[in-house]
Amino acid sequence: MTESAGPGKSADLSRRGFLCSAVGSAAAVLGGAAAVSATRPALAQSTLTPEAALKELMDGNERYLGGQLQSLNEDLAILKAKTAEKQEPFAAVLACADSRVPVEFVFDQSIGHLFVVRVAGNITTPEITASLEYGVAVLGTKVLMVLGHGSCGAVKATIEGKAVPGQIGALYAPIWPAVNEAGPNLDAAIDANARIQATLLSQASPIIAGAIKEGNLKVVPARYDIASGKVSLLT
Ligand SMILES: [Zn+2]
Repeated sequence: MTESAGPGKSADLSRRGFLCSAVGSAAAVLGGAAAVSATRPALAQSTLTPEAALKELMDGNERYLGGQLQSLNEDLAILKAKTAEKQEPFAAVLACADSRVPVEFVFDQSIGHLFVVRVAGNITTPEITASLEYGVAVLGTKVLMVLGHGSCGAVKATIEGKAVPGQIGALYAPIWPAVNEAGPNLDAAIDANARIQATLLSQASPIIAGAIKEGNLKVVPARYDIASGKVSLLT
């Protein structure tokens, strides 16, 4: 009997979740075809430039703003079938856990297109950085957006510095540099936080820094306006 045969092995793999099984087939992921939608052309991830990937995100936000979502018309059954064994997202997004920031809707994307990591305050921690490194190094995402948003409760709480229950206060330290830089103005601190987290990812992770240097990745800070739905790039 070979090592890969037997129901016990495949059952174990399925229990380990998509990340582990995807790591096991990294070569297939990197060499595979992009997901094909019923109404839009395939996103040829292997040939998409970082600039084209960013444009795809921003074009999706334009459709969202105009109420012209295309992703809702995609054949989800086809997308599920095409992505059952592999994923090839063209973009990674680090966003806040806030319920008012529905990332896939905001960029008009459905199954298999975005690698989304969410945590209150869109901060980088070792686990968050590890997840994004996986998106870049294994899945080959071409753009990594750090998406702050207006009225962010995590940034607001850090500015106020009040005592909070449980482990909520653990969010303060990663956000504090932005508050220290921008002062008590909430909007300024939100933008500074997105920029600082993007810089941290770009410089502190050799994998992400290397992908940028090789021209395979663009890291961009951005801001989501909850009221209008508009995403604005921060420079
Ligand atoms: Zn938030």
